[in-house]
Amino acid sequence: METANSFVTAHQPQLIDPFGRAVTYLRVSVTDRCDFRCLYCMAEDMTFLPKREVLSLEELDRLCSAFIEKGVRKLRLTGGEPLVRKNIMSLIRSLSRHLQTGALEELTLTTNGSQLARFADELAAAGVKRVNVSVDTLNPVKFKEVTRWGDLAKVLDGIEAAKAAGLQVKINAVALKGVNEHEIIPMMEWAHDEGHDLTLIETMPLGEIDGDRVDQYLPLNTVRARLEERFTLEPIAYKTGGPARYYSVSETGGRLGLITPLTHNFCEGCNRVRVTCTGQLYMCLGQDDQADLREPLRASEGNELLSQAIEEAISRKPKGHDFVIDRDTKKPAVSRHMSVTGG
Ligand code: SAM
Ligand code: SF4
Repeated sequence: METANSFVTAHQPQLIDPFGRAVTYLRVSVTDRCDFRCLYCMAEDMTFLPKREVLSLEELDRLCSAFIEKGVRKLRLTGGEPLVRKNIMSLIRSLSRHLQTGALEELTLTTNGSQLARFADELAAAGVKRVNVSVDTLNPVKFKEVTRWGDLAKVLDGIEAAKAAGLQVKINAVALKGVNEHEIIPMMEWAHDEGHDLTLIETMPLGEIDGDRVDQYLPLNTVRARLEERFTLEPIAYKTGGPARYYSVSETGGRLGLITPLTHNFCEGCNRVRVTCTGQLYMCLGQDDQADLREPLRASEGNELLSQAIEEAISRKPKGHDFVIDRDTKKPAVSRHMSVTGG
């Protein structure tokens, strides 16, 4: 039984980095696999990891629970595509015990929406309240081009199902030069009409892809300036625990988030770390420094080694990132793909 003391301890942030920031938000990639091949995220002929390298669902549960014991309050499952992981609902249902005890404030996921129609009710039943769904364009032909394998109609059905199940949906769109840059206004109007927040993300130079990143890069200050010609954007203090800066849009009554890793430094308030599906802990999305948690996880059934490894890693969390797209080589500064750390 939980005593008053253990309850207090479990809710105190215990992972404090060298810059005094408490780590209370964990993003976990549950698979590197995906049923889409988005142009900016993956090459079409991606090679995925052998199964033995990927943490089992039980290992993922132990790992997440160890972080929750150390004061993590928000947990986001991502990927790859989290909903293509076999038996993913058993992990989600198991993790939801931490929602029931109050140790965890929020359990959520980022998904491409392709499987949402199937899972929306089960997610809601497990205590998931919000999901982020990535939709870069509402034009079905373009959607197929950007995702290579995706079907917009299925994703929109998934979003409908999520809404019907009572989940709050946030739409994430990566701003892509020459692809969706002239569609951002209708997308925002659609999202706000449907009652969804919209967050725009700048492309981040992560991992080798087939195309050219300098060509894809569309700075969000350009997008914002264009939006401000027609809409009134009021900066608001709204926070979801993520790095987005939010605006309320007077004309639509909706919220717009902007994530600008390249043009704006969002590191001071960083409260998050990421774990890959192989148990590599990245203390910063924009840096390569990592700590292996799989070895201590697999070395014993108890969590002592794991706990030590987590603490040691957090003591190395860097102050900020160094994202650059090298204009000469056009190579990314960070070599791993977004599907590895899950965004
Ligand atoms: N498959 C799920 C999805 O698409 O939402 C979850 C994983 S995906 C890697 C998470 C988010 O990262 C998506 O919103 C995706 O658009 C975004 N993303 C992927 N590669 C990116 C990149 N190079 N720059 C910026 N965002 C990226
Ligand atoms: Fe898959 Fe998401 Fe990457 Fe697209 S962005 S390829 S949906 S992991």
